[in-house]
Amino acid sequence: MPDLFIDGTWRSALDERTREIRCPADGSLVGVVDEAGGKDTVEAIAAARRAFDEGPWPTTPAADRGDLLLRVADLLLRDKDALARAESLDTGKRLVESEYDIDDIANCFRYFGRAAAAETGRVVETGTASVDSRVVYEPVGVCALITPWNYPLLQTAWKVAPALAAGNTFVLKPSELTPHTAIHLMRLLEEAGLPPGVANLVLGAGPEAGAPLGDHPDVDLVSFTGGLQTGRRLMAAAAGTVKKVALELGGKNPNIVFADADFETAVDLALTAVFLHSGQVCSSGARLLVEDSLHDRFVDELVRRASRIRLGGPFDERAQSGPLVSAAHRAKVEAYVAKGLAEGAVLRCGGARPSGPEFEAGFYYPPTVLDECSSDMSVVQDESFGPVLTVERFSGEAEAVRLANDTIYGLAGAVFTTDEAKAQRVAARLRLGTVWINDYHPYVPQAEWGGFKQSGFGRELGPSGLAEYREAKHIWRNTNPSPQGWFA
Ligand code: NAD
Repeated sequence: MPDLFIDGTWRSALDERTREIRCPADGSLVGVVDEAGGKDTVEAIAAARRAFDEGPWPTTPAADRGDLLLRVADLLLRDKDALARAESLDTGKRLVESEYDIDDIANCFRYFGRAAAAETGRVVETGTASVDSRVVYEPVGVCALITPWNYPLLQTAWKVAPALAAGNTFVLKPSELTPHTAIHLMRLLEEAGLPPGVANLVLGAGPEAGAPLGDHPDVDLVSFTGGLQTGRRLMAAAAGTVKKVALELGGKNPNIVFADADFETAVDLALTAVFLHSGQVCSSGARLLVEDSLHDRFVDELVRRASRIRLGGPFDERAQSGPLVSAAHRAKVEAYVAKGLAEGAVLRCGGARPSGPEFEAGFYYPPTVLDECSSDMSVVQDESFGPVLTVERFSGEAEAVRLANDTIYGLAGAVFTTDEAKAQRVAARLRLGTVWINDYHPYVPQAEWGGFKQSGFGRELGPSGLAEYREAKHIWRNTNPSPQGWFA
């Protein structure tokens, strides 16, 4: 069965190219999918344009759009096992993590389904009895939705659900490495009764399949999650036709541990912060800032536990962490660690590929801790997007804030302390889109997600997540018109 979904039809790429998808855990063949080129994407944009300009979806009552999203949430849960398995095979991620993701994804559809139904617009007081005035919300138009490989279906849901809730049509381009759950989602949207042309899927590499989404005049909005360099390129491409742009980019996220933190909790969550999904998380707490007086004890314990983390494939129930997504990504992480060591960081654990037959065919890299780092090192400033923790010392609140903010990024981070007032003071000074206090990583679809500074702009999730995909239109009605005579 072909894998590109354009104008309600499944078809192959125009030039019949395909791509093999292999599991990062063992290199086994997961599937062969169609690989779109630019011409396929231009056709998908045309279909989305027609469906927006002529189709029923943008003017479907918001409550009905909401109902469709609620149906999709049910279908996602019905197919949870198959979806989680497909996600794990594409990414190498542990099955249990993929299962959590599918629950989150269904929640996201449910949240935006309900938000769509609650969509009302508002009446505006004009002060004139014969005039009424209201603000209504309308969809932006054709949306280009471009997503990465680390949370393939979750990042897709964060865009598809609000885009549909607001009445847009879209072209989705998931990462070329992890296409299978996006294909499955399109089938569920079809099954739920979405009209043809509203949802379109192109699979393929960014520079070919993705590029037209950045500059095509028929695209009204680009919502992108991925790396900083690609985000900059898309923003520049979108400027030519003044598209609305939302960017969710990288992060080098500070995890601040004060000496008065609850030791057990802070160590445990410092490990989760950076080693969850092998560090391939945009909000990963890959930059530990630990108060000088606690440093030795804290880092010793962290290293002891990090060294024991068991690596394994997605279906190995004893595994605590999986492989990196590709050979190229592992090479990038290795180069990053080598650079850190050359800059003077002290290797405390990890730093070399694991040995053993079970790791040979996969892209494994162990939890790695680089101690005695300083914020002028590129290893501290750059995103490795792997299981690599840099450790810096600080002394006192002011230095913690200064170091944490000394980065071009501003996505997320955490503060661990038992002093509630200090936690609040520090949280208020951090230039981050999300600050966790005595916690790391949780999120809810009701609250906004997004970055300050070069971590991007625009918000996903929460009320502002829906607002990204809407235009506000003011309608002014004169119920008692009469000539004004200014130019009589
Ligand atoms: P990437 O930028 O390489 O690719 C992301 C997507 O963009 C892919 O679908 C890719 O094919 C596409 N793309 C690449 N070049 C393109 C072009 N010229 N035109 C159109 N599309 C193009 O990122 P990645 O390696 O897939 O993902 C990792 C990055 O994503 C990390 O930097 C991570 O921090 C970031 N991320 C951010 C968030 C967030 O919420 N802020 C969430 C997840 C991942």
